[in-house]
Amino acid sequence: MQIIQSVNEMQSHAIGLRSSGRLIALVPTMGCLHEGHLSLIDIAKEKADKVIVSIFVNPTQFGPNEDYDKYPRMLEADIEKCRERGADIVFNPPLNEMYPDGYSTYVDEDHITDGLCGISRPQHFRGVTTVCLKLFNITRPDIAVFGQKDAQQCAVIRKMVSDLNIPAEIVIGPTLRDEDGLATSSRNAYLTPLQRTEALSIFKALTIAKGMVDEGVRSVDRVIAEITHTLSLSRRVRVIYVQIVDRDTMKPAREILPGKQVITVAVWVEQTRLIDNILI
Ligand code: AMP
Repeated sequence: MQIIQSVNEMQSHAIGLRSSGRLIALVPTMGCLHEGHLSLIDIAKEKADKVIVSIFVNPTQFGPNEDYDKYPRMLEADIEKCRERGADIVFNPPLNEMYPDGYSTYVDEDHITDGLCGISRPQHFRGVTTVCLKLFNITRPDIAVFGQKDAQQCAVIRKMVSDLNIPAEIVIGPTLRDEDGLATSSRNAYLTPLQRTEALSIFKALTIAKGMVDEGVRSVDRVIAEITHTLSLSRRVRVIYVQIVDRDTMKPAREILPGKQVITVAVWVEQTRLIDNILI
């Protein structure tokens, strides 16, 4: 497995791979890799000849009072996990190569980013689309693999790829969960054991909600009320939003239409912000 840090080296290597006819898959990450990330590497390996895992904690997607500085960084362990999982290249660019002094170009999607996390994290998706387009231009992937865990991110990236005619296929991997149902996340590292137990109410609430939909409930209000109630039983959990939205547009649903929507939740578990969702 190669470890590449230079942006220029990564780009010329990727151009070489592409011209020799290899299919490239990119798995963009911010590191602190867990099974959720590694499951995306597995998907990438099935679909492509060369798998590039990018590890870059992207400052432009963090708000001024967010956790950029304390975001967990563990590059050596991450490299080992990528090697064990069979990635071909880890791309770990330095900050000053991704955003040199005077950097001033950003990608803005105007509609999908309006609601949900776009409200509580106003610059977040601009940072995500910008860094993803940069990573696509540097690594030239035929396929880029993202996780359903970040449902709004998936919708925004699909839209950017379509709107900007980016020649890459976007593949979405299912949300990977620990045995108790908590979606794996780098931010779970912030949770104390007690907070982690409280955080289990997120998947519990989503599971109850999905059960209601499967049994034929079509009222958005009823399902949201049930989720809010289940979350409220955990004293350390504060709801940021609970919404049922269209999977592509992220617009709130008026009634439940199975097969087209996703139930999305964002909460604070004391100081830790967690998101999760379930397809319905
Ligand atoms: P991050 O390092 O948090 O930026 O995540 C990198 C990629 O991994 C994104 O496409 C995420 O959606 C995906 N991801 C994060 N957690 C999970 C999970 N539990 N299951 C599947 N994919 C995940």
